[in-house]
Amino acid sequence: MPVNRGLVKVKGLGAVKTDGLDRLVGRRVDPGVGTVTILDPSIGDYMATLRRKAQIVGPKDSPAIVFHCSLRAGDLVVEGGAGSGALTLVLAHAVAPDGRVLSYESRRDFLAIARENVARTDLADIVEFREADITGGIPETGVKAVVLDLPEPWTALPAAAGALRPSGHLASYSPTVEQVRETVLALREAGFVQVRTLEILERRLEVKRGTRPAFDMLGHTGYLTFARKAEAPEAMHG
Ligand code: SAH
Repeated sequence: MPVNRGLVKVKGLGAVKTDGLDRLVGRRVDPGVGTVTILDPSIGDYMATLRRKAQIVGPKDSPAIVFHCSLRAGDLVVEGGAGSGALTLVLAHAVAPDGRVLSYESRRDFLAIARENVARTDLADIVEFREADITGGIPETGVKAVVLDLPEPWTALPAAAGALRPSGHLASYSPTVEQVRETVLALREAGFVQVRTLEILERRLEVKRGTRPAFDMLGHTGYLTFARKAEAPEAMHG
């Protein structure tokens, strides 16, 4: 539960006074309804309690995006579209405290949800939301990575290529093979290099007497396509 946010509704507990709870972080306490443990919020806790509308990029896939785009503190990242802001949070977490995420979303109703989800965290200062179609262009240049979760990611490649710095990273998340194919062909056509697509599979282990993998597994979310921006070779003279 968030601490120092006044009265907060907590599932299973009802309304809880959170002021002063920061002194109890890491402790077990009994607020009168049984023992609870006070933990400071992790990025996983933020993700688990998001208000969602669009399908989100979840904790199975977003860390791979951070790794393949080689994101670190201070980086400038452009995202399209924001959706519910789930991936936005993970990108902001990666580039904090002095990096920035510029997140494009063409739908006002989704943008409101993404804003709300980011405002609940301590990452709001890292993120700038823009109510705009990302295919219309990105004014910034020198961007470290452009991260796309759009139904037609290939339509955003000219804008992405214009914003990325040379050797910058492009990442695209798509649920279907048709989307991947169209994106990969467009990336190759546009001269991007190191174009690759992968899928992350994750299986939990249930540790008990007779430890074994969980029977349930998240079967499919999306494919991840990555690439790096490269310029066409300079014309040779003489
Ligand atoms: N990655 C997000 C989910 C994004 S869903 C998350 O983790 O929460 C895809 C979003 O892209 C939708 O909200 C849709 O409105 C938006 N979108 C689609 N085309 C767009 C475009 N051309 N420019 C900006 N946003 C776009």
